[in-house]
Amino acid sequence: MAVDLHTHSRVSDGSDPPERIVDLAAELRLKAVALMDHDILDGIPAARARAEEVGIPFVPGTELSVEWPTGRMHMLAYFIEPGPGPLQDRLQGLRDGRRARNRLIVEALQGLGIDITGEEVAAEAGEGAIGRPHIAAVLVRKGVVATIAGAFDRYLADGRPAYRPRPRLGAAEAARLTGESGGVAVVAHPHTVAGDSEGFAAAFEQFADAGIAGIECHYSEYAPELRQRLASLAGRYGCIATGGSDYHGTYKPDLRLGTGRGDLAVPDACYEALLAARPR
Ligand code: AMP
Ligand code: FE
Ligand code: FE
Ligand code: ZN
Repeated sequence: MAVDLHTHSRVSDGSDPPERIVDLAAELRLKAVALMDHDILDGIPAARARAEEVGIPFVPGTELSVEWPTGRMHMLAYFIEPGPGPLQDRLQGLRDGRRARNRLIVEALQGLGIDITGEEVAAEAGEGAIGRPHIAAVLVRKGVVATIAGAFDRYLADGRPAYRPRPRLGAAEAARLTGESGGVAVVAHPHTVAGDSEGFAAAFEQFADAGIAGIECHYSEYAPELRQRLASLAGRYGCIATGGSDYHGTYKPDLRLGTGRGDLAVPDACYEALLAARPR
């Protein structure tokens, strides 16, 4: 049996309603599923209600983008419930930062001669946390680029002409707020902070020092051998290994829920380790 501990709904930059995420997991007979929308918890009540209906264990959470000495890190904050709390109280400010940053990106694109408006981006995104994938989707729809990945490569990725940064929490601060909110902090897709495979050991040691409890080792982009190697490396630094597809629906068209690019199978043990890591 397998689990999927990293998915996004249309409450942030996925394309499916939260209920559909749960349905897809249930159809695959996964042992558990987590909804990890960026900087927002609004999808959790609907996803949980559906999970109770269909009888699949559900993990609430959110994915944060945080500062790390070598750049930016995505941090998965598991077991964060909607409502007040140390981390929860920071999310609105992070979404406000997104809104201001998105406006600057649209202005930068306009400055490059591209016909795009903030209203078009808002219409693409709907309610919730709006991000660069929504801007990318508008660029695809208008024929400016062929794919969402192409929009990042040409305009939106860090270092490209329409990239604009937004305010972030520090990694250790985010890990602390997560723990104080009853959650478990996990580094998402660690290659984005660790660089090449030689860098993983040094990075994993620093993760543990920053108060991070787990590392996403079973990730769609890693070959099966690398997933295993990362999982044993995580254990060496006292971190749990987790995993997930990073499913975004049509915003990442080559990733499927549960199976990623086809060969992902996140062990149930990852879910059990995550449960055991919860602060008491
Ligand atoms: P934002 O949250 O607005 O900063 O946008 C970051 C999100 O864009 C990530 O969570 C991914 O879902 C997506 N993303 C980042 N880089 C790329 C890329 N190169 N191609 C496609 N999607 C990307
Ligand atoms: Fe995303
Ligand atoms: Fe991410
Ligand atoms: Zn993600």
